[in-house]
Amino acid sequence: MQNSGWILVTGGAGYIGAHTCVALLEAGHQVLVFDSLVNGSTEALARASALGGGEIAFVQGDVRDRAALDALFARYPVSAVLHLAGVKAVGESVRQPLHYYEVNVSGSLSLLQAMDAAGVHTLVFSSSATVYGAPVRLPIDEQAALGPSNPYGRSKLMVEDQLRDLCAAQPHWRVAILRYFNPVGAHPSGQLGEDPHGTPDNLMPFVSQVAVGRRPELAVFGNDYPTPDGTGVRDYLHVCDLAAGHVAALKALPAQGGLLTVNLGTGRGHSVLDVVRAFEAASGQTVPLRFAPRRPGDIAACWADPSRAEQLLGWRAECDLDAMCRDVWRWQRGNPQGYR
Ligand code: UDP
Repeated sequence: MQNSGWILVTGGAGYIGAHTCVALLEAGHQVLVFDSLVNGSTEALARASALGGGEIAFVQGDVRDRAALDALFARYPVSAVLHLAGVKAVGESVRQPLHYYEVNVSGSLSLLQAMDAAGVHTLVFSSSATVYGAPVRLPIDEQAALGPSNPYGRSKLMVEDQLRDLCAAQPHWRVAILRYFNPVGAHPSGQLGEDPHGTPDNLMPFVSQVAVGRRPELAVFGNDYPTPDGTGVRDYLHVCDLAAGHVAALKALPAQGGLLTVNLGTGRGHSVLDVVRAFEAASGQTVPLRFAPRRPGDIAACWADPSRAEQLLGWRAECDLDAMCRDVWRWQRGNPQGYR
């Protein structure tokens, strides 16, 4: 299949972006990436291009730079935008809220204005399960109350609000809001994966760095939650399943019209200790751990009701936790220092 027009992927050189580029190329799309390279890497793009079997056009820039976006839309006939660019660390967002609102909220606004000026009205937006408040019931469906507990989540919710207002006022927009649960995993080739700068905030990259010997032990944040083993439970989702979710959203949008909002998750919850055990089995390494106090702002348990994504996009997650761990380990072992 060859579609007309470029699919613009902001943040396409990042972890989720690079996997999404592979999935887009495999689906026959022409892919154009706009990325500041603050968290992305051109090496990831080169590898994504080889894996997807196609060229990826690349423009370096920041979504806050309206002139750069206007120049890009003038140069390339873009048919749809996947907006993944943004900052995403919860703890950092608490320390630097203005930075989060500037990059995530102003950046998205600048992109929407540039799209409108260029007559491009089809958008897939990376949102997050963080927009939900502490869950009243599980699994979490899309009707659950919204009430993020940190600036990162609030910045995502503000963009969602912009998109809801926009679609209500201007019905020719086609927008999919994808609420990601916990993306982990790596491309099964071992060529693409998560490459966090500095100390990883998230569980899976931390566990894999302990397994490969870069860090001595994992601190498990809390073992007194009301969960089966006392540790936090999350819905971990393979990044390739997540990438496929973007392609499915892009395909569904023309027929769906207006605004659609879906959870992307597996519908299954795993505890921190489940993840450690699965990673030990996949890697053959021991992951030393110690129990530490709860991390402020963490909730006990969170997993998705992903049935709406199946209904509207025909998408469901295929990979289980063992596959996620196997693929992370293949990536980590083959690239112990990431892309560097
Ligand atoms: N976690 C942990 N140690 C770490 C990082 C995370 O015990 O070094 C726990 C965290 O408390 C949560 C789960 O692992 O229960 C997933 O955390 P992560 O930061 O990956 O994702 P979140 O769901 O918080 O966005």
